[in-house]
Amino acid sequence: MSRFEKEIKKRRTFAIISHPDAGKTTITEKVLLFGHALQTAGTVKGKKSGQHAKSDWMEMEKERGISVTTSVMQFPYSDHLVNLLDTPGHEDFSEDTYRTLTAVDSCLMVIDCAKGVEARTIKLMDVTRMRDTPILTFMNKMDRDIRDPIELMDEVEDVLKIACSPVTWPIGMGKQFKGVYHLLRDEIILYQSGQGHTIQEEKVIKGLDNPELDSVLGEYASDLRDEIELVKGASHEFDLEMFLAGQLTPVFFGTALGNFGVDHMLDGLVEWAPAPLSRESDKGTVESTDEQFSGFVFKIQANMDPQHRDRVAFLRVCSGRYEQGMKMRHVRLGKDVRVSDALTFLAGDRTRVEEAYAGDIIGLHNHGTIQIGDTFAAGKDMRFTGIPNFAPELFRRIRLRDPLKAKQLNKGLIQLSEEGAVQVFRPLKNNDLIVGAVGVLQFDVVVHRLKAEYKVDAIYEPISVATARWVTAEDEIKLEQFRKKAFDNLALDGGDNLTYIAPTMVNLQLAQERYPEVEFHKTREH
Ligand code: GDP
Repeated sequence: MSRFEKEIKKRRTFAIISHPDAGKTTITEKVLLFGHALQTAGTVKGKKSGQHAKSDWMEMEKERGISVTTSVMQFPYSDHLVNLLDTPGHEDFSEDTYRTLTAVDSCLMVIDCAKGVEARTIKLMDVTRMRDTPILTFMNKMDRDIRDPIELMDEVEDVLKIACSPVTWPIGMGKQFKGVYHLLRDEIILYQSGQGHTIQEEKVIKGLDNPELDSVLGEYASDLRDEIELVKGASHEFDLEMFLAGQLTPVFFGTALGNFGVDHMLDGLVEWAPAPLSRESDKGTVESTDEQFSGFVFKIQANMDPQHRDRVAFLRVCSGRYEQGMKMRHVRLGKDVRVSDALTFLAGDRTRVEEAYAGDIIGLHNHGTIQIGDTFAAGKDMRFTGIPNFAPELFRRIRLRDPLKAKQLNKGLIQLSEEGAVQVFRPLKNNDLIVGAVGVLQFDVVVHRLKAEYKVDAIYEPISVATARWVTAEDEIKLEQFRKKAFDNLALDGGDNLTYIAPTMVNLQLAQERYPEVEFHKTREH
């Protein structure tokens, strides 16, 4: 294997999906601890306090108690190089979360064992289905009184429609939590409480039949043996192919707070999760081992560094190798650019990256020329497909305090929508500006940024819009007829795409029935 191939094979790029409070931040800390990117856990959380504030609107996030972790974290683990992409955890999360999932090759689903499958997790799992992303599962908070583990797995299978294959099985729970049995290694790993901030030396008993188990667990040892028999009989065996197809998830039990079990999950991640996968483009499949550099932008973050007040475009490398000072083509603009100051994100610190391979995320400085979905490639005119916009769920009319600034407002909103911060819809019938978002927080961010970056003072008004759908039709004439008939409900989005604005879900349903020749899309690709 060449060095190039080795670099790619050792990479794993993943994100954590969970409902707020399930323990994503805590797990991130422990993962970084194992990656030796943190000396002691607790530092990620520490960034919530003042001195690390990265920007004004992150300040806002902080006030609302949203975890401010960094966006991309790279660290070594067991001969591999792991990229963990952060997804905003709060309920008010934005489309960034959805799109970040297009930039990873696997996901870790974290479940609070006292609560089971929760709403946000269901939604995020739906998004991972678009690419059949392989999912690992961590059942968290075993140090609490939780629900029956078998019942939890059943719930995951029923609600999320994915087969569960327990890799570890818990021994007790709450104050009686003793550790786990590793089904594949035939090992009992014992839990010691009160060591959450360090990497623990694990106490391991080899083999379920080992008499040592009886001396440690007493009478419970034989119960455990019976239980394991039962679990083996009642659950799925691990199957790599099904895992890679997103149909089966290996399940790990532990406690992130007690730092127990996270390493078992990481071992599974580097062993089974795919190395950087291929991506589709308009010119066919791009393999991660293709030698020419290529990548796509999935997220733009504004003002990460208050000293620079810059915007950083996050690019997932899909093939080839990034090298400091290399030339690449900004395909949409048809322009070659030399990039010598791309950033990498080592556990939250941005440093200049010297080289990067498929699976890595690099940050490009953006002075307003980069949009979500943009492709950068060396010596090739192709565009990656499948980076979606999602139909927003929340809508407000935006209005100026100072009517003379209409032009700036328009410009600001369109730029912010190109950047993916929010979506804007301009009805055909009037001069309203409707802002659409997936999470409430996006509204605040937009008003804040309009003021800071475009010197526009804007306010929101409620508007009765239930949902929006992008509309297309094969037949141009039919589309034109539809445009006339449904005129009052149509709008153009920030990229001039025709959109149907539905005041109610019933209205949308009726429109779909009335115009069968028109397609109503929930997502739009960049
Ligand atoms: P996030 O919202 O998903 O990022 O969740 P956090 O990591 O912030 O955790 C939410 C709360 O659950 C915090 O108070 C954590 O200390 C707590 N927590 C996380 N993991 C565990 C665990 O394994 N056991 C217990 N008892 N609490 C935990």
